[in-house]
Amino acid sequence: MDRLYLLSFIEQAPVAVAMFDREMHYIAASQRWLDERGLDRSIIGRTAYEVYPDVDAKFRELHCRALAGETVVREEDHFEVAHGSVQWVRSEVRPWYEGDDQIGGIVIFAEDITARKSAEELLRKSEERFRYAMEAARDGIWDWDLETDEVAYSPAYLEILGYSASGWEADTLGSILDFLHPEDRQYIPTLARNLLHSPGRYELEFRLRAKDGSYRYILSRGKTVEWNAQGAPVRAVGTHTDITDRKAIEEALRQREEVVRRQHEELEAIYQSAPIGLASFDRGLRYRRINKRLAEITGLPQAACVDRTIGETLPAMAQSIEEAAKSVLAGEKSVSERELCGETPAQPGIKRYFKDHWYPVFDDRGEIAGCGVVVDEITERKNIEIKLQQATERLELAQSAARIGIWEWNLLTDEAFVNDQWRLIIGVADDVVLSYELFVSRLHPADRDAFLEMVRQAFAGSGAIDGESRIIRADNGETRWVVSKGQVFFDENRKPIRAMGAVWDITSFKQAQEVLLQRSEDRYQRIVETAQEGIWLLDADAKTLFVNPRMARLLGYDKDEMIGRELLDFVDDEWRGMAEKKLVDREAGVIETHDFKFRRKDGADLWALLSCVPIFEGGIYQGALAMVMDFTERKRLEEDRRLYLENLTHMDRRKDEFLATIGHELRTPLATVALAMDIIESDGSLSEKSRAMCLRTQRQVQHLKRIVEDILQVSRLSMGKIDLQKQCIDVCELLVQVKEIFEARFDEAGIILSASLGGETLLLDADEVRLTQTFSNLLDNAAKYTDRGGVVHLEAMRQGDMAVVSIRDTGVGIPKERLAWIFELFNRMTHGPERVRDGIGVGLALARKIVELHGGHIEARSEGAGKGSEFIVRLPLMKQ
Ligand code: ADP
Repeated sequence: MDRLYLLSFIEQAPVAVAMFDREMHYIAASQRWLDERGLDRSIIGRTAYEVYPDVDAKFRELHCRALAGETVVREEDHFEVAHGSVQWVRSEVRPWYEGDDQIGGIVIFAEDITARKSAEELLRKSEERFRYAMEAARDGIWDWDLETDEVAYSPAYLEILGYSASGWEADTLGSILDFLHPEDRQYIPTLARNLLHSPGRYELEFRLRAKDGSYRYILSRGKTVEWNAQGAPVRAVGTHTDITDRKAIEEALRQREEVVRRQHEELEAIYQSAPIGLASFDRGLRYRRINKRLAEITGLPQAACVDRTIGETLPAMAQSIEEAAKSVLAGEKSVSERELCGETPAQPGIKRYFKDHWYPVFDDRGEIAGCGVVVDEITERKNIEIKLQQATERLELAQSAARIGIWEWNLLTDEAFVNDQWRLIIGVADDVVLSYELFVSRLHPADRDAFLEMVRQAFAGSGAIDGESRIIRADNGETRWVVSKGQVFFDENRKPIRAMGAVWDITSFKQAQEVLLQRSEDRYQRIVETAQEGIWLLDADAKTLFVNPRMARLLGYDKDEMIGRELLDFVDDEWRGMAEKKLVDREAGVIETHDFKFRRKDGADLWALLSCVPIFEGGIYQGALAMVMDFTERKRLEEDRRLYLENLTHMDRRKDEFLATIGHELRTPLATVALAMDIIESDGSLSEKSRAMCLRTQRQVQHLKRIVEDILQVSRLSMGKIDLQKQCIDVCELLVQVKEIFEARFDEAGIILSASLGGETLLLDADEVRLTQTFSNLLDNAAKYTDRGGVVHLEAMRQGDMAVVSIRDTGVGIPKERLAWIFELFNRMTHGPERVRDGIGVGLALARKIVELHGGHIEARSEGAGKGSEFIVRLPLMKQ
């Protein structure tokens, strides 16, 4: 073992070891060496014989042998040591060599075996006791009859296990087996039986369970004393000795030796496997010893490093490493807390960081013989530090680039922290003491209350600070807009403990916003300029402040011609009064939208829709904004339509008058003709031919009379010249009568007339004659437009407060496109030549007029030609 290495580690060795030079001067001693001998470090430099003047000659001789090159081991020596006690020592004395194979001195390794010795002493004493005990029959004696398997025990035997003779029941071997320790039970019985066959004495060790449940170590000595004729053992006797105490001592001893051995191993293992690099160097800075970790850093095997220089193993860092080593060699006590960095041969291209600690190694003359180093790699930590540093820098950079001011306020300590940016934004110099009040004092008076309220709410529980406010910078008094965003943190009792947040200056954003607003005003202006509506701004005196190009065009003026002129100047003379009244309304705040007639520059009318909104400021009328939409064209169309309608009504009236006149004009001559026919017909001298002609004429006159009556009725109805003779009638009853009248007619035509007029009375306040006429008309039509074999169904029912009468036939039907016109006057359809054409299209028109005069409604339904028709009449029921 290298001397320098020894020197540097001897002091920490967990064993008693001392190192001497050739003259037996102490060079080094472990702490244990000193402690065990009651010495201290002042002995270093003195000789062993000065320290122990009366040392035994045999030890001097021993030292000489070792100095001559021999390694001497003395198993046990005893010394009087401190406090007068005796120490037993096992020692090993061996020479150590200087570099050139010359013996530099000796190393004495002394192991304190006092404890072992005393254990041995105990053992010896217990053996002695055994002997005495044997003599006094204190040992347990047993006598085993193998044939009966009965065993006799001496009382001492039983006492070992804590029993008395009376309490002992194990008479046979079978039962003593129960007392054996479970582990021993595995093999002891077999072993014992085998031994019984041997002629000599035998010994066995095992454990037996004592009465108290503990196990006692038993040394069993025995001998087979009788054999049968076949040579099988029949009787054995022996003793039992309790060796539990001895066993305990032996175990303690074994453990102690184990500890020492482990300490040796640990020391080496620690050196080898330490996660830090360890090495020692000679004065030429060559490795004397290097551990695994440091060898890994050099990238060489441990053995390859020994005798190499630092420069050879770690060229990239050699200079700074050697610098520390050299200063230790030059007398520096130690060099530590240095940081090295550089590439290593083990990981080329990678920058690694180390911390090294250097200490000198002294030779026996107290001169520096070399140095040792402890190296700790800190690359990982360093890289994290570097990254952290970079991240911090980046964050700071980001914060200052984003101009974000950060603040933090610890409410428990009332400490505040802000970054530089915060001070820049608020305009507070570095040396100004921070406080919440300081920030509040910088708030613009107009925004202060709102801000304080927001903060109050945040502390009361919402936690969030978020607001825009103006501040007045402390340095130059400038007003700036800032956004404050932050968070209040609470403890578990909802008590605020910490608040932090950020502020940033948004003045330029606000300015940009204003510019944008300005721009949107521009846009608004453009809309006004290009609007399709006329826009007219009036002042409080109704004088024109502004008109858009469209407004000027509408009135045929130039924009500038209109400015300053009163609204009334542009109004049609007839509308002036109205305009003046509207002006009064406007001043009262009325928003108006109405038609208005202006007068254009060229004298033409301008009909327009005018929307006018009054403008107030501070409650005072400032004028009005009017929007004007031209509808001269619409107005003209409306006028045309009105005239057309007027015309139509006029024509309609003339038609009615014409019909009435015609009716009257025809009525009298028809009556005369009818009378004449009656007289002629009653003349008995008429020829058959004349009579037939007379009858035909009579029929036609009747038909004409009916038409004329219908026409007269329609025209009277149209001109409102008919008064209804209303009375209370049951419509069902009325229908039953009408049906009766028609029954013969339907029979003749071969059409079935059915009816559902069941039970109910449907009372109406109506003109019985006119309603009879109406339903007769409808039944007449049904008969006319239904072929033989068809069915006509008459029905009446109540629907809400209406009586509903339906006349449904299976006849020719009505095409869809005609349904809408069917109730118009003189509306007739052709239904083929075979159909009787005795109507002129008055019946349905008349029916409708009558129904409507009763406040009712008539409707025609048909699925189309050939699909039958249904006429539905609804009349209001009499109020109960
Ligand atoms: P007219 O005296 O010609 O019957 P109306 O006013 O009573 O006049 O009827 C007008 C027209 O309506 C008729 O010419 C006929 O074409 C049609 N019409 C009326 N009732 C029916 C019906 N029940 N089925 C089919 N068509 C009908």
